[in-house]
Amino acid sequence: KETRVKKPDWLRVKLPIGESYKHVRGLVDTHKLHTICESGNCPNMGECWGAGTATFMILGNICTRSCGFCAVATGRPDAVDWDEPQRVAEAINLMKVKHAVITSVDRDELQDGGSIIWYNTIRAVKTLNPDTTLETLIPDFRAQRENIQRVIDAAPEVVSHNIETVERLTKQVRIQAKYRRSLDTLRILKEGGMRTKSGIMLGLGETKEEVIQTLKDLAAVNVDVVTIGQYLQPTPKHLAVDRFVHPDEFAEYREIGYELGIDYVESGPLVRSSYHSERHVIPGYGK
Ligand code: SF4
Ligand code: SF4
Repeated sequence: KETRVKKPDWLRVKLPIGESYKHVRGLVDTHKLHTICESGNCPNMGECWGAGTATFMILGNICTRSCGFCAVATGRPDAVDWDEPQRVAEAINLMKVKHAVITSVDRDELQDGGSIIWYNTIRAVKTLNPDTTLETLIPDFRAQRENIQRVIDAAPEVVSHNIETVERLTKQVRIQAKYRRSLDTLRILKEGGMRTKSGIMLGLGETKEEVIQTLKDLAAVNVDVVTIGQYLQPTPKHLAVDRFVHPDEFAEYREIGYELGIDYVESGPLVRSSYHSERHVIPGYGK
């Protein structure tokens, strides 16, 4: 479907410039790291990088999956880089941030799904930065307990896994994923004592009732933090934007989320999973 809807004013953002931006840019390059900020063409780079923070993407920059909304390249990933955990830890140390976010591509071709590198990365970051809190945005690991357990054992402050869209659109939006399996992953994380988080994008063709049902499903597995943001088409080859959701509708979902008992709901056009992530560590912050 090739629809072109004009971007409303509330999606205009600052350009990435300034000293902090250059500092982050330099660290990412010298440590040979990848960020989802760049790979995902995130509209908040001016704000986040300008404040000295970024979301690192580990396990390479080629993903075994091919979600219809995502700008990360799909294909056969490079060999696992065992030094990557240490480089991520050093870059976070040089950024001097109180809170860091790490995500990864999916590595379905690896028997451990990449969970060993995940474990090593979390431990390396924690060892070198004992005062830095950490959010890890992980793949579903096909809901395999052994792999999810490695993340639980490494004990980041928040573990997120994004359900991304409503159940009906899951096949179209993230072809290799399953809505119920993502809920299982979140349930296993919660059973392991983690503070859990998930995110939904709006503007992919979902109805209001379906968004509310998704919030109910996330509340049913006791997800602590939910982010709701506007989907933006990264390139013309990706899924088209169905509609730009008005800020008032985002505010409504925030209220509904709180009524359902979710601890923190971040909902607005520019919200991304890692946006304001430092607040998501703190229980009760949004209330
Ligand atoms: Fe990066 Fe997340 Fe900020 Fe976007 S919102 S620039 S992905 S840290
Ligand atoms: Fe992008 Fe993640 Fe989907 Fe891979 S699994 S294509 S990185 S959203």
